[in-house]
Amino acid sequence: MDHKISEDFIEEVRRQADIVEIISEHVVLKRTGKNYQGLCPFHSEKTPSFNVNPDRQMFYCFGCHTGGNIFSFLMKKEGLAFIEALKKVAGKYGMELPERELSSEERKNEAQRSRWREIHEWAACYYHDVLLHRPEGQDGLAYFEHRGIGPEVIQDFRLGFAPDRWDGLIRELADKGVAPEELAEFGLAVRRETSEQEISYYDRFRNRVIYTILDVKGAPIAFGGRVLDDSTPKYLNSPETKFFHKGRNLYGIHLASRGIREVGYSLLLEGYMDTIAAQRAGFTNAVASLGTALTKDQARLLKKYAGKIVIGYDSDKAGIQATLRAGEILLDEGLNIQVLLFEDAKDPDEFLKKHTVAEFRKKLENTITFIEFKYKMLIRDTPLRTIPDKAELIRKLAPDILKVSSVVEKEGYERYLSLELGLTLEAVQHEIDSLTKKTRGNRGNPEIFSQQQDISVKKRNTIEGTDIDSFQESYVHLGVFRAEQTILRIILENPNYKNQVADNLDKEFWRLQEHKFIFENFPENSLNLIDNDSWYEKVQRRLAEIYELSIDFDKADMLLKDCIALIKETKKKETIEDLQAKMILLEKSGDMTGALALLQEIGERLKRGEK
Ligand SMILES: [Zn+2]
Repeated sequence: MDHKISEDFIEEVRRQADIVEIISEHVVLKRTGKNYQGLCPFHSEKTPSFNVNPDRQMFYCFGCHTGGNIFSFLMKKEGLAFIEALKKVAGKYGMELPERELSSEERKNEAQRSRWREIHEWAACYYHDVLLHRPEGQDGLAYFEHRGIGPEVIQDFRLGFAPDRWDGLIRELADKGVAPEELAEFGLAVRRETSEQEISYYDRFRNRVIYTILDVKGAPIAFGGRVLDDSTPKYLNSPETKFFHKGRNLYGIHLASRGIREVGYSLLLEGYMDTIAAQRAGFTNAVASLGTALTKDQARLLKKYAGKIVIGYDSDKAGIQATLRAGEILLDEGLNIQVLLFEDAKDPDEFLKKHTVAEFRKKLENTITFIEFKYKMLIRDTPLRTIPDKAELIRKLAPDILKVSSVVEKEGYERYLSLELGLTLEAVQHEIDSLTKKTRGNRGNPEIFSQQQDISVKKRNTIEGTDIDSFQESYVHLGVFRAEQTILRIILENPNYKNQVADNLDKEFWRLQEHKFIFENFPENSLNLIDNDSWYEKVQRRLAEIYELSIDFDKADMLLKDCIALIKETKKKETIEDLQAKMILLEKSGDMTGALALLQEIGERLKRGEK
């Protein structure tokens, strides 16, 4: 681990800082006994379930299960990286951050990144200035005005115009000491080799209105340009570079990150103009993917803010296809998906021009689920005449229905299909479940099914609506999950029990990597974990939840024994096939360490002659 800041310093900041004071800047806290309570800033609620514990310097919300320490609070609330949160707290208490020497490679990379940011900021200012204040920008301004976009929106989205010339940006930035090579490196200019082997550069964006792509903090990171006439390409975007990946960003997120949390869902749209129009109409949760099909990274980004998504793509054929693809990706991430339909408009922008905001709101209240949407699309072209037709249709929808984690929701879809198709609920369920068995390798193992139910129960009772993004976790047996938590709760209170656990269970028994980490690092050296922001947040969050478990410490001995026994028992019952299935899931989720651990176990079991 390569830490930029010494752990002593972090510990010192933590000692000096007061979590109640810091959180009070964001949340009205009331004292209740030893703790403080308030309305959770991470989900909307009317009665307080957000708790701050000054003794442990941790917070935890019983509503949305967000939790952590002072740093994770600021990271989440203000969108800061760990180092930034640390700086902020340190600054507040008059402490200065000692900087470690960076390696030359790191220094180079950091310098390049800040240069990239600086140049994008200058470019955004230039395009914006051309649009608003220079004669060459008049066509652009007329274009936006014609579409009902006023000065305020132009400011909020930092809209701009690239003039109709080859060297507008190149010249402008030359005054600031930016070489054309640099602009080309960051995708803002294009390099051209002429016949005499001479190299020249020209502006990438010419004669286009500019949609500045801003990161979550509102800093420009790329641009999208649209032509004013019918020339092609209609849209031109910044290319992928070392620092910009369009699949990891969303248009409008600088405003929507807050809006989504406030209303509890994201409104996922297709285009720049849709996003602007929706935001302008007061739908502050509107975002768009950047001219590409929705990616897994974008789905995860959205999941950070809320567990529910409403898709409002174009109503044409391409839009329907895009909705179907996006839906699958979002379903894989365990998100609740609704689809917005516009019968008489091609997209949200047009809808908002034709109709009132109230009518748009009404549409949002009458969305359909993704599975209903897919059903409607499937039957639109091929009417169902025979029973085999209907069975075929159910089989097409089954994979999506099986991805739904809630048993109640799943049954809702089965009922919907039974009503739509005029079949009994049993018949529909039978068809769907028969597919589970087939896809799971024809084992007909009843344990798998009970395990699935277990997971759903867990989701409903304990982690529903939270953004726990560990794919792995959804495959953890509920009993094991609880047992691991209980073991850790006991150890955090009394580390002397660690040996007992280590003696009885082998090191790899932890199903959740966060749990393993906590076991190995807490409570003794609790700060050895700042190598990665999202990992830090995950661990803090687990910790906060574990600390909130109330257990009877007088019976710690017995509880610990029970938990160890349960874990051993579950492990014994798992067949090799179960392990293989889990391994594939882990591989798909990118958790190679987890997959390898399982592979090892499978190998050992096979050696022992087990099946
Ligand atoms: Zn909450």
